Amino acid sequence: MSISSEQHAEITALRSASQPTRRATVPALEEILYEPILVLDHGFIRVVDYMGDDAAIVQAARVSYGRGTRKVSEDRGLINYLMRHRHTTPFEMCEIKYHVKLPIFVARQWIRHRMANVNEYSARYSILDNEFYVPAPEHLAAQATTNRQGREQALEGDAARRVLDILRRDAERAYRGYAELLNEDAAGAPIDPAQPGLARELARINLSLGFYTQWYWKTDLHNLMHFLSLRADPHAQYEIRAYAEAMLDTMARWVPMTHAAFREYRMNAALISASGLAVIRRLIADEPVDQPSSGLSPREWRELMQVLGQKF
Ligand SMILES: Cc1cc2nc3c(=O)[nH]c(=O)nc-3n(C[C@H](O)[C@H](O)[C@H](O)COP(=O)(O)OP(=O)(O)OC[C@H]3O[C@@H](n4cnc5c(N)ncnc54)[C@H](O)[C@@H]3O)c2cc1C
Repeated sequence: MSISSEQHAEITALRSASQPTRRATVPALEEILYEPILVLDHGFIRVVDYMGDDAAIVQAARVSYGRGTRKVSEDRGLINYLMRHRHTTPFEMCEIKYHVKLPIFVARQWIRHRMANVNEYSARYSILDNEFYVPAPEHLAAQATTNRQGREQALEGDAARRVLDILRRDAERAYRGYAELLNEDAAGAPIDPAQPGLARELARINLSLGFYTQWYWKTDLHNLMHFLSLRADPHAQYEIRAYAEAMLDTMARWVPMTHAAFREYRMNAALISASGLAVIRRLIADEPVDQPSSGLSPREWRELMQVLGQKF
């Protein structure tokens, strides 16, 4: 189970309280504040705090005193301009803090994003829950032959069942070993009163990458967008992408103008090299051009044609 009944009660209590503030708040984000958004089989993200809104970005860019009197269309235009021209510091004025529950192998990819503040659940101090990630059958796929970092066609029938059985069997065995090393049952009583329990910091080494961990993760909007541009991208592994997509939805609630500009100028845009631009100019001029004459490698050519929606 992703959320225990105790955690539910804490979240309900937090959500029923309101604090008076002079600071800007965003009603659409307040609506889901503290509320877990379920991801994968046992994971979640939830927004636990934030600072700033679209207006704070505009205010910082203009270095103005108040929230300004300009029209919404002018603010949108300015945010679009900042995004297009990579004028990034105004976006750093907004901050967001998430509580995330995620498998350890996802955490290993995520932690590579250094421009954030992280505090992880301590498995030296506490006992990890018996929760491990098992992919949904539609996400079980064979190793890709064309891309060493990816998966290809989905596994079905007996092949899928065999993989799921192995994943479950090994994780259950690992957790049984962990509990035996700790020498504690679910209620904290010794399993074998004659044996000492191993320290938590050592017993955890028996667990595998599919087990869930948790952390608080805080970053500014500029670095959040950098994270999302890499991890909500189709090249990212499905499991971290599932988290990034849920976070994109929270961003849409929080800073809708910035979110729209981010989709327009970053997520759904493309970076074209100088040689790629030359190919496009030749295509527009109806001049013949192919991969060997373009100066692009076969891979770059393929990527450019994909961006242009052309066959290659
Ligand atoms: C699809 C994909 C595949 C990947 N495959 C691999 C892999 O096979 N092996 C692997 O090891 N990693 C891999 N990575 C991780 C990747 O190389 C980056 O470490 C990760 O995406 C974090 O990016 P970042 O450094 O830009 O982010 P952050 O650490 O958040 O940094 C943000 C930005 O701050 C600046 N910055 C931060 N720290 C420094 C610094 N010390 N010096 C200078 N500038 C800094 C840089 O401009 C950086 O872009 C992969 C990532 C993706 C998305």
